[in-house]
Amino acid sequence: MAGALIALGGNVGDVRATFARAIPDLCRAARAKLVARSSDYLTPPWGDLQQPAFVNAGISIETELDPKALLSVLQDVERKFGRDRSAERRWGPRPLDLDLIAYDDIAMQSPELTLPHPRLFERAFVLVPLAEITPDRVVAGRTVRVALAKLSAAGIERLPNMD
Ligand code: ADP
Ligand code: MG
Repeated sequence: MAGALIALGGNVGDVRATFARAIPDLCRAARAKLVARSSDYLTPPWGDLQQPAFVNAGISIETELDPKALLSVLQDVERKFGRDRSAERRWGPRPLDLDLIAYDDIAMQSPELTLPHPRLFERAFVLVPLAEITPDRVVAGRTVRVALAKLSAAGIERLPNMD
């Protein structure tokens, strides 16, 4: 089994309800065990500022799929929840974005998959949820906690649990 970190985001529709359905879906499709799930966070838009706020979360899973097969499951789940890459702009609004942040200690670079995720260390909206569930995990040579300490988490707000 391999340990993978996945970042979830979205800003179209009822994103928290989407997460609640997408997480068990992806675990089933990836034959994965959910190890930890962060709270949901409300975060300011990034990249393209002219769009609604996002909801973000992070999960840690154990899976038997290899990294590319796991990415393909993530993309299937994105599509199932209404994502249409052909109709969207880069970093623009989307119902569900699933990014593979880390997979064990694997480093790889190919056209469809780079590990660890190349923009991880620029994105507090990814690191804040992961720091909640796995602060001591080392990714690309630094712990999630240390990586987050180098960024501003201004405007990121933890949402109360729904249950
Ligand atoms: P972003 O997540 O940066 O907003 P997209 O979700 O549109 O952008 O992804 C763009 C491309 O990034 C996808 O086609 C995917 O193949 C590629 N990609 C490369 N590395 C990764 C990764 N670690 N996780 C998810 N997608 C990745
Ligand atoms: Mg993505």
